[in-house]
Amino acid sequence: MIVSPAFAGKRYAILGLARSGMAVLESLHASGAELLAWDNREELRASVADKARIADPLESDLTGYDAIVVSPGVPINSHPIAQKAKADGVPIIGDIELFAQARASLPLHRVVGITGTNGKSTTTALVNHILESAGVPSVMGGNIGLPILFQEPLPAGGVYVLELSSYQIDLTASLDCDVALLLNISPDHLDRYDSFDSYAASKARLFDMMGYDHCAIFASDDDKTQLALHGLRDLGRVPNIVDTSSRQIAGQPDWPSLQGPHNLQNAIAAVAAVEALGITEAQWRPALASFAGLPHRMERIAESSGILFVNDSKATNPASTGPALGAYPKIHWILGGLPKSDNLTECEPFYENVVCAYTIGEAGPLFSKLLAGQVPVESCEMMLTAVQRAAANARPGEVILLSPACASFDQFRDFEARGNCFRCAVNSVIENKLVGTAQEEGKR
Ligand code: ADP
Repeated sequence: MIVSPAFAGKRYAILGLARSGMAVLESLHASGAELLAWDNREELRASVADKARIADPLESDLTGYDAIVVSPGVPINSHPIAQKAKADGVPIIGDIELFAQARASLPLHRVVGITGTNGKSTTTALVNHILESAGVPSVMGGNIGLPILFQEPLPAGGVYVLELSSYQIDLTASLDCDVALLLNISPDHLDRYDSFDSYAASKARLFDMMGYDHCAIFASDDDKTQLALHGLRDLGRVPNIVDTSSRQIAGQPDWPSLQGPHNLQNAIAAVAAVEALGITEAQWRPALASFAGLPHRMERIAESSGILFVNDSKATNPASTGPALGAYPKIHWILGGLPKSDNLTECEPFYENVVCAYTIGEAGPLFSKLLAGQVPVESCEMMLTAVQRAAANARPGEVILLSPACASFDQFRDFEARGNCFRCAVNSVIENKLVGTAQEEGKR
């Protein structure tokens, strides 16, 4: 666990005692801080009663507290805690800010911060994998893996690789990344921001916090990413700015877990990040080939009768699904769920790769309408039906891809449950020998 003398004798209120909140509580407690803690769930409150005073921060006088620590899941744009913090004159922060404040007492290390609308987890895991393969002590944290304060401190020379959502950046004030990387920005999470502009501005704040001699990387040519790049360049505050949006590197066919134009973007950005830390091509190239990928992101889950099944359940918006369709030339595409937009604009450039689309969930009727006339489409409603239909139609050499372009909450607990359901359906069609049956019957 990461602890720090910086917290000793200080007073904090902690709101939310799930994963990162619990790490915050343990770390601050072990560091000698005085704590007030709250969660809506009684059992969580009871489990920390020996380490903190249990009280609702909304009903407590917090004047004189050093900070209110909230989990990134708390919508500070609408939650009354924001008003309360203002009234009592206390800053609202998250666990990443506490990590930033603890850094001075950790062995000498560097930090890579990775943000963007899509590809954060993949790129974070890839940077971490390249560093580990090169023998550099490193660990992933932030939005991925164990909460950062629960991690063991790295030895001197280590690198903390942090995946940072915009919510986490909103709760961070002093994280000076040695390498700060912005992958891309497309409309998402707009329920938490006034506008697309303020969502983009939130991501760009990562660069406001960084020091003069550190490295800023921008990976995409989308308008908002380029705006952030130009904004930083105009300020002249950080001279080392790397734009990887037009860079190329050869060899992608040798990296099985990094297929598709989006993963090429991630790989190029990850290479720029590790090169900024002194890693050479002889070190990073073999690591791109040995990267295992993450579950539910372009995950190859089975191959049967020459047909490949790929689970990309994590693609929860059209901007992440578009490039997934660019990864293979003949795709049976399962899509749908809880829609985040009323269009599939970012997917359109890749329709020539779609043999047939199978719609599911709440977005099914809308997507079937949008796709009609552009690609063959079957309305399936349920995952199992979609997989059965796709498996029956597909021919050897083709790919069945779940890349929903939607949130999962209409039919599933989360994107993981959706991906697991896809996997079960795939296993069932393989076991029941339903793959390729339409060709046998001469239906296609
Ligand atoms: P995040 O952590 O930002 O949600 P992930 O690495 O978990 O990103 O990937 C989420 C989804 O976005 C995946 O399903 C993948 O297909 C897609 N994706 C990955 N990288 C990119 C990228 N650079 N641009 C667009 N979509 C991407």
